[in-house]
Amino acid sequence: MAEPAQPPPPAVRDFGNGPERNEVAAGLPEQAAAARAAAQGEERSSGIPHDRGYPRRTKLPPPQENPADAAIKLGLVPYHGIAPKLNELQWRSDRVSAEIIGRSAGGHDLYLVTVTAPESAAQAREQARLRERIENDPAAAARDRGLAKKYKAPLYVNANIHGNEWEGTDAALRTIEELATSRDPAITALLKRTRLYFNVTANPDGRIANSRQNAAGFDLNRDFVTASQPEVRAMRQVMMDAQPVAMIDLHGYVNGTLIEPTTPPHGANYEYDLFITNTYANGLGMEAAVNGLGYTPEKDGVQPAQIPFRDSAEGWDDWPPIFTPQYAPFHGAVAAHTVEIPLRVNNADYANLPVEELRRRSAINTDVAAAAIRATYRFVQDRHDRLIADQIEVFRRGTAGEPARTVPLGIVPGFGPEDVYTTTFPRAYAIPAGTPAAARLVDHLIANDVRVERAKTAFRQGGKTYPAGTYVVDMRQPKRGLANVMLEPGEDISPRVDAMYDISGWSHALLWGAQVEPLTSLRAHTTPVKVAAPTGSVPRTSGPLALKVADAQDVRALNDLLAQGVAVRWDGGAAVIPSSARQAARVVADRYGVAFTPAREPGGVPLAQVRVAAAASADELFTLRELGFDVTPVSTALLNQGFDWSGTDVLWVSSGLSHAALTPQARADLEAFLGSGGVITRGRTGAAFNTAAGLLTATTVEGRSDANGVVRTVADGGQVGGAATGHAFVYSPLWFTGLGPEVAVEQSYAADGPLVSGHWRATAAGAGGPESARGQAAVISGRDERGAAVVMFGTEPLFRNHPKGLFPQVARALYWASSVTGAAVTTP
Ligand SMILES: [Zn+2]
Repeated sequence: MAEPAQPPPPAVRDFGNGPERNEVAAGLPEQAAAARAAAQGEERSSGIPHDRGYPRRTKLPPPQENPADAAIKLGLVPYHGIAPKLNELQWRSDRVSAEIIGRSAGGHDLYLVTVTAPESAAQAREQARLRERIENDPAAAARDRGLAKKYKAPLYVNANIHGNEWEGTDAALRTIEELATSRDPAITALLKRTRLYFNVTANPDGRIANSRQNAAGFDLNRDFVTASQPEVRAMRQVMMDAQPVAMIDLHGYVNGTLIEPTTPPHGANYEYDLFITNTYANGLGMEAAVNGLGYTPEKDGVQPAQIPFRDSAEGWDDWPPIFTPQYAPFHGAVAAHTVEIPLRVNNADYANLPVEELRRRSAINTDVAAAAIRATYRFVQDRHDRLIADQIEVFRRGTAGEPARTVPLGIVPGFGPEDVYTTTFPRAYAIPAGTPAAARLVDHLIANDVRVERAKTAFRQGGKTYPAGTYVVDMRQPKRGLANVMLEPGEDISPRVDAMYDISGWSHALLWGAQVEPLTSLRAHTTPVKVAAPTGSVPRTSGPLALKVADAQDVRALNDLLAQGVAVRWDGGAAVIPSSARQAARVVADRYGVAFTPAREPGGVPLAQVRVAAAASADELFTLRELGFDVTPVSTALLNQGFDWSGTDVLWVSSGLSHAALTPQARADLEAFLGSGGVITRGRTGAAFNTAAGLLTATTVEGRSDANGVVRTVADGGQVGGAATGHAFVYSPLWFTGLGPEVAVEQSYAADGPLVSGHWRATAAGAGGPESARGQAAVISGRDERGAAVVMFGTEPLFRNHPKGLFPQVARALYWASSVTGAAVTTP
């Protein structure tokens, strides 16, 4: 963490090719479903094997030496030094096991180290049985007084998730070595009763490259509800497989060392009475350990540690489960912390400070991070039985379907009414089956270890009949908190807090395109689901076929057909393909789970593969490519160098492009493009470009810049909004007034108040709030006097790859803009 709340990352970064496309044998439903799930990034990683003993002594392949690794300047271990060090420790000690748990976006191995006393395979299997019992039969586990004696408490240390917050890695390696070689009887005792898991560097790409993000440009510590990145899917699997009772996530840089628990608002889906008690206790222990190192403000520039829950009123909350320690509790962690080590060595300091000063700071930071790790394993050692009992209690309450508890005031010192957040769990959620959106959501829930079932027969509930095959998420399950935090609409918390650290709304039910309905009772015969059922189909009738672009999977299927050179026509929100392409349609129907319907004789206009020049943020580039668009990143500088527009159909502008800063030649080249091209804008940068380039007649009104969340919208039809879901995501929302006659409204903010969940207030002067946005145009389109086709988004349809139900709006904008201008029909 340690960056203030801010709009999405402006970085324009290039990265590798688009996602892999799994070839699927047509007509094998299970394979098709599994491949579709994999194609959506929901493949389950192999995780930690449970049937092998410890030590495992995996020889890690050493990466090539990289003298440019950014850690070297700080005197810290470069990424290529980690595997040799772990190999040496595995050779020296029977307490250390290293495993590769995945690969980063940039292709680097991710290392998980387990430190524990040796176990035979039979003993490891016994540990696995106990862990499964805690999750799957918590009531029996709670009654079993012998369980805590046999069970090794799992502790998870996550390091370096922000690549340019380095020292957690070095502290982890130091601690692993100490534990591996110590003759202290207390350590021997610790390792007999504990398994310590270290994710040595969660972000090797960023560690090497001196960046917060991974090679795809994503902040991994914002991705846990989405899991768009392989590093996050690997961490998620570790938390599910290891089921830690406690975890810490090592960050930088806040002086004095910042140690959670957090300020309010507190996530309402945790068993917070258990969580705050343990987390505060370990926070105090870490504080004592850090302060006990003896560093002082006068001598070292190190301030005393601080605990936001105790020392601050607001601004460091645990509301969104996008952060590692806010996600881990759903898998049973009853103490979880972000720790921010004190002395800044990144950003401008990395570039400007003398090397010896940087190394002095990094050495202190490593000491602080190591002290936090040691304090945490001592905490787990001291509270061993209680932490296990509290984890069992989390799963027991979920399985029993008990109402959420209201945490008693004063449960820890300072726990006041401002700290009380609670929720009401429905009895179940129903997710009607048959759409790619439902399949994607179900696969995502399952990948998060949420249990999903299917109705074997039709059932009635609330006056409505749900057909056989309907997905059911029974909220009587151990991880109901995770199920609910994804499936509930969320809450408008604007009245309760002044400022939030990051996003405040994320509902998968409202943003991922699937229908999700809470049920107040549940009487259905169900069977467990391992993977969502296939949804693709092609009608048996002869003649042309239509594919309505209503889901991200429709977009990917259509772009796949376009890449194959299939003759596609674009007909107002749907693509029409000739009957000669029937076989190709069958293949993409299986691959992406999309449904074709019979089409009338092709109307519309020809559509070819859309080539996008994108001045966009990294998450937008990633998503546009994931959808199968042909994307070339551009910027002011690149256009000023002389850009060949002949390969571009549509220009995307949301970040890093200023019309005012273009050279006269670059402007002239752009003008020539606008005579036959399209422009999509998003956000303030895009709106400024629209004005400066003289595109659509519209006045942009800015909502408060830190406002964000899920909003209700009304689709006004047209080219983009037609099949919209009725909700959108906003961050620094915009709306458009003073519209010229050439402008159509595609989507508006709901007239009865747009904000469903999140944080959106007016400014002190009363401007920029959700009241002002009522009924205003959120997305507009039109053709300017040159003929350029323009769509402007005041919403955030691609934000961090999360609001998947909004992706098709962007695609329809691109198809429309390229097809009406004829831009995209010149290529085969
Ligand atoms: Zn951080």
